[in-house]
Amino acid sequence: MTQNSELDQMRCFVCQSNEFEQISLNRNLLDASDFRASEYKTIDYSYFLARCKECGHSAIRTDNPCWMPTRKYDFIKYGEPNEHYPKVSLILRELSLDFNDTSIHTFSYKDFQLANFLANDLNISDINLNDHAGCSDDWLPVVSRNGKKQNPLPLERFITEIDKSEKSNQLILITRFFDHVANYTLLNKILGLSSPTRHIVFDLNDYERLFELGTLEFIWNERRNLFWRSHLESILQKHNLKYLMFSYESHEVSPTLTGVISEKLMVKPKAIATGVAISSAPNLTEKLVTLRQLWQGKLGMTHRLGIIGASHKGVSLAQFILSNHVQYSLHDDKEALRGKTPPVNPPLGFHLVSGFDFSDYSHVAITTTLAIAAKIIPKLRASGYTNEILDFDGQKLD
Ligand SMILES: [Zn+2]
Repeated sequence: MTQNSELDQMRCFVCQSNEFEQISLNRNLLDASDFRASEYKTIDYSYFLARCKECGHSAIRTDNPCWMPTRKYDFIKYGEPNEHYPKVSLILRELSLDFNDTSIHTFSYKDFQLANFLANDLNISDINLNDHAGCSDDWLPVVSRNGKKQNPLPLERFITEIDKSEKSNQLILITRFFDHVANYTLLNKILGLSSPTRHIVFDLNDYERLFELGTLEFIWNERRNLFWRSHLESILQKHNLKYLMFSYESHEVSPTLTGVISEKLMVKPKAIATGVAISSAPNLTEKLVTLRQLWQGKLGMTHRLGIIGASHKGVSLAQFILSNHVQYSLHDDKEALRGKTPPVNPPLGFHLVSGFDFSDYSHVAITTTLAIAAKIIPKLRASGYTNEILDFDGQKLD
């Protein structure tokens, strides 16, 4: 269907090698956030879970030309944690900027909450809340009349907004950018925004710690880079950027890294982090094969699986873990998803959780957060459901 030229050109974001070991996540996949407003079918792509043979960096490789996979439609939005905001604020205070003469710029709606916090905490009045990340399809390169590829429009708008700031300093918030960036030019352009008067705040999943948890639920099509801390450090160092990074635990979300990039930081130069010990990184492709086998062992032709939670995790389970023959349905009570078409085609349909009769299901998988699962399980049991309730990794939840 698609030519794999996009895939062939894609080099490791950390070390530029083009030698990968990889496993197909599936052909004809859509991004997990691609709930559609109608039956209209978008283009499918191939996705691979890949590991760089040179440096061990794990990534999702795909022939999807989108530079920045974000949610597909505006009706899907998720909250972000905020426990770390005071620490970010503290680091920024230590830069001794004149906050009266500073503007705040957001890359995504995910930055709005932090932007508002910093504006309030640091007394910054010039705050620009714009969702440049927008939707996935905005991030396709534009081809001009002479056939030349140009930057996607949201990137142009973001850079223009920052260039136009009349303040002496700019705070640029790029929450979750590093997880999602799918194009090396885009990575370089965003890092290239750094200057003595521009200060960048980022965060990303702490994949090193996620790997240690032994789960694979964090692998989503849209998360194109599963950067280890040392991998990201090596990229920042190659760009000669000064940075400060810290990790934090949240009750709401997975382990996360947060950092500030600024030339005003007083940090000692670190030894260049190259060639992270590959042997110490678990082999995700092997783990994925094992997980597929585990689910295959559980679900025969006569079994029925109800997947509760139709966000990335639930869709990922259906898309690239389950075998094709599995009889499953997908369930979610989110108001925004009512009447929408999910990115997978569940043989037993897409339904609500509440009021649904699971009594003739042999298995239920709950792919929400544990806090939400803890509320769902007693209700399921109270309704008389007696079979296995499992998580994404096929482990029993009660
Ligand atoms: Zn590499």
